[in-house]
Amino acid sequence: MTRRAVAAASVSRHTRDHGITWLAVLAQAPQSMSAVTYALHDNGFAGHMARSPEVTRYYLQIPPTDTPEDWPDERIWTELGIRMRTSEFGPLRQGPITERAPVRLRSDVLDPLQHARLFLAGDAASLISPSAAKGANLAIMAAEVLAGALAEALLHDDERGLAAYSRTCLPRIWRAQEFSHWMINLLHGPLGADPAADFQRALCRARLDSLRDSRAHQDFFAENYVGI
Ligand SMILES: Cc1cc2nc3c(=O)[nH]c(=O)nc-3n(C[C@H](O)[C@H](O)[C@H](O)COP(=O)(O)OP(=O)(O)OC[C@H]3O[C@@H](n4cnc5c(N)ncnc54)[C@H](O)[C@@H]3O)c2cc1C
Repeated sequence: MTRRAVAAASVSRHTRDHGITWLAVLAQAPQSMSAVTYALHDNGFAGHMARSPEVTRYYLQIPPTDTPEDWPDERIWTELGIRMRTSEFGPLRQGPITERAPVRLRSDVLDPLQHARLFLAGDAASLISPSAAKGANLAIMAAEVLAGALAEALLHDDERGLAAYSRTCLPRIWRAQEFSHWMINLLHGPLGADPAADFQRALCRARLDSLRDSRAHQDFFAENYVGI
């Protein structure tokens, strides 16, 4: 509610639809692999992330026009198996699917993160695509900065932290947006069968090769993925 009110007021809004849709799936099943796993396949992206010992999140890139009804459990497991090459790496540990929701990959940043005495944090301040898993991390970062600034204002009558709130948070938000955008380009080749798509796919593979082979590239990835 506050985001909508502020966006209509005096702030700038930087927004982008990345043109990609994921089906976000929660399965009542233990993780199938020991780490977060991203799979690139000509059918589209697939992802695997442990959530708890009994629950695992999976992602499948799907056509934007698909609905959750187009994806019954059996189709989800079959497609995950194809994209994650289970015939080579072993079967996925399956279980009932408790959530299947399309997620459109979007970015949306307000600037400044404030209107008069209203301060925005978390998804109200900035939306980020889940490709680099940064949204909750940014929300906690902003909440921590804002909590410190509010404490200074209320306890010591010092409003410098509040005045600097946007200036402190926005560079970190944009850095996460930039990495998230880099991840989108890493994880999604075009799905078409034409020369332009072939070229883009070759670039994607080259980027992955570089990430596999170059220590400098791995350091860049690790620093941004884990957080500065
Ligand atoms: C599929 C998916 C996967 C994700 N995975 C990751 C990940 O792996 N890592 C990561 O860091 N981030 C991830 N994120 C992003 C993360 O979930 C969000 O960025 C984060 O939850 C934002 O926190 P928030 O407190 O700003 O908003 P929310 O968590 O959305 O909390 C807002 C709360 O306000 C309540 N609310 C809304 N309107 C009102 C109202 N009018 N009155 C009262 N209450 C109201 C809502 O019910 C909600 O409980 C993911 C997001 C999605 C969609």
